Amino acid sequence: MIAKILINTSVNTLNKVYDYKVPDFLVPQVQIGKRVSVSFGRGKNLEEGIIVKLEEDYEPQKYKLKEISDILDDVSYIDEKRLKLAKYIAYVYFCNVYDALKLMLPPGTKSKNSSKSLDTKKDKKVVLIKSSDEIMQDIESNVVKSAKQIQLLSFLMYTDNVLMSDIIEGLSISRSVINTAKKNGYIDIVEVEKENDFLKDLDVKRTKALKPTEEQKYVIDGISKYIYDEEYKQCLIHGVTGSGKTEVYLQLIERVLDQGRKAIVLVPEISLTYQTVERFVSRFGNSIAILHSKMTIAKRKDEYKRIKTGKVNIVIGARSAIFAPIDNIGLVIIDEEHDSSYYSQTKPKYSTKDIAAYICKEANAVLVLGSATPEISTYNKAINGNVELFEMKKRAANAKLPEIEIVDLRDDRIMGNTSNISLKLKAAIEENIKNKEQTILFLNKRGYNSYLTCKQCGYVFNCPNCDVAMTYHKSNNLLLCHYCSHVERKFDICPKCGASEISSYNLGTEKLEEELKELFPTISVLRMDADTTVARDSQQKILDEFKNNNVDVLIGTQMISKGHDMPNVTLVGIIGTDALLAMNDFSASERAFSNIFQVSGRAGRSTKSGRVLIQTSDTENYIIKAVENNSYIDFFEKEIEYRKTFGYPPFIDILLFEVSGSNLQDVKIDAEKLYNILNYDNQNEYRVFSPKSPYIQKLNNRFRVNVMIKAKLNTKIYSKVYDKIKIYNTKKKNGTILSVTKNPSFI
Ligand code: ADP
Ligand code: ZN
Repeated sequence: MIAKILINTSVNTLNKVYDYKVPDFLVPQVQIGKRVSVSFGRGKNLEEGIIVKLEEDYEPQKYKLKEISDILDDVSYIDEKRLKLAKYIAYVYFCNVYDALKLMLPPGTKSKNSSKSLDTKKDKKVVLIKSSDEIMQDIESNVVKSAKQIQLLSFLMYTDNVLMSDIIEGLSISRSVINTAKKNGYIDIVEVEKENDFLKDLDVKRTKALKPTEEQKYVIDGISKYIYDEEYKQCLIHGVTGSGKTEVYLQLIERVLDQGRKAIVLVPEISLTYQTVERFVSRFGNSIAILHSKMTIAKRKDEYKRIKTGKVNIVIGARSAIFAPIDNIGLVIIDEEHDSSYYSQTKPKYSTKDIAAYICKEANAVLVLGSATPEISTYNKAINGNVELFEMKKRAANAKLPEIEIVDLRDDRIMGNTSNISLKLKAAIEENIKNKEQTILFLNKRGYNSYLTCKQCGYVFNCPNCDVAMTYHKSNNLLLCHYCSHVERKFDICPKCGASEISSYNLGTEKLEEELKELFPTISVLRMDADTTVARDSQQKILDEFKNNNVDVLIGTQMISKGHDMPNVTLVGIIGTDALLAMNDFSASERAFSNIFQVSGRAGRSTKSGRVLIQTSDTENYIIKAVENNSYIDFFEKEIEYRKTFGYPPFIDILLFEVSGSNLQDVKIDAEKLYNILNYDNQNEYRVFSPKSPYIQKLNNRFRVNVMIKAKLNTKIYSKVYDKIKIYNTKKKNGTILSVTKNPSFI
């Protein structure tokens, strides 16, 4: 038997398949989609590959074929359909087919050795037994030297509840590194029980479908038509927060299941909480699989197996769950479709909505997008008829929409109040506390991290690997880079001028908490941000505590603006507004609007009416005006006009090519090469912009330079660009990597 094998290689354009002989002893296991190891080229090392086709022996053999050395998978997750999908992704996002196939393999299938070596039943926990202080001292005085040891220990300083398998597969740190850390007295390894089964242990009462409101009925009936006809269709549900979109999803899924077909539900990573899952489990029982990046890798692998064996009817997960090995799909739902987490930030930089559309089209399935603030390009498609539009304007369950007030911060400055909390907001919080009702204060993360500078010379403590300031974490006196996880101890002396006046620009949630406690010393406050939620289930714990213990105030970043139902929250204060308005890439307004609008929707979701105070110095801004009028359409109309005038998506397509590598000179040379190749013989079909460094040029010790194309893309122009990239790939240097974003939400 002959197997055609696609080799996993970093060499671009090497999408060729090679013939290998299947030795007799492997014939019983051989199957399309299984990974194999084979010797390839002149190298002695074995390479990984995937079987893409099987054929009978051809006789007589012209030359002697090499044999497959080993088969690495017990189960195949790749079939003909997925191979086709991978080819599509490779074409649209300019990557290797193998890179695309990797998206469809179970998580943690990284190297040849790891997939078989881990027992998913018995895992071990790794716990730190020395303090951060002692560890930092040892790192600074070179007692701990190896990079892997430092990586392991710094990871543990910031993360609780770490499993051995997370470290080995997630961080690519070997067992021997862990053992060394244990031998040297830094960590302990403890046995843990098999991870609780999220679904089995979820003790939920079964619920029945609610009687739909009039609006819900019209949406359910409208979309069901396509489900019953098994017709491919994209639908957008534009429904205000609390309009009962989730109930609509549930009833649509019911219809798909009745037909014997299956469903995928995608939600933004941070809203994949217990409550979300519970609503689905209580309706459909446990034929549901959950895929979440905070689940252990072993657990996610188990879920993949369950899905593959056909025991699962509904997959709920974040972005990558669109690749779950589920067959017979009738419906894909993308909730909060405007969320930026649906765009992958690593190569291939795919758009989940595009992939979902492709999958639904192939399967004659329905794609449902839902949001209170749809992406501009989605809504534009909807009003032009390419996507069917369903509007839900009222809140279900009689809840009223919140009252929105704009607080002009310039008034506070005149009154001499420079705090983050305006006088109006202060009064509102006071009243809320008196009424025993809860308050959420929302602070945009951007521009509000705390970092260290020298008061004398202005030196900023940047990460040595990235072009960004490290964030200062007061609780353990450490500086952390949020991009590459580099950790350092806080300095007391400026390395540049020697002064000892190091001060922290602490404008973040911690500072806000301090200010709040100064104003109201006796109230209870919880904080939820990247700093307090590293551990696997901490986000859920904070929300539970807030809700169950009726904590007065919750302070948080974006992550609190998503989907949780909190009936006693009647006041929302939005604090970082001006920083949001100040961003300047083409989709910044869209993100600012949806952020502010979504978080406003947190207030008054039940019978109690809600109040939202938005603090800003730019009260006339069209984004603020639209939020004040509670009108998505106001915003959309202004924004689409702007995009048209200045030539941005959806009127013009952008392809952003990023050349990256560890050597800046090489990166620059290659970017220039790419620019020239793209420009050559360009009959005004597109516009190429000269190479430009992004805002953060160095990230994780890799330099990046962008080359951008703007065009009205059609098949002809696209294939011309594609061919040029093929040429570029044969001319580029070995050390650089090219990745491509289509209509990036960020430039
Ligand atoms: P969305 O997903 O649009 O934000 P939800 O589906 O979470 O809205 O619904 C908001 C609230 O209204 C929830 O508490 C939900 O239980 C309730 N609700 C939704 N539909 C109905 C209905 N048909 N009858 C009664 N209550 C409903
Ligand atoms: Zn860094």
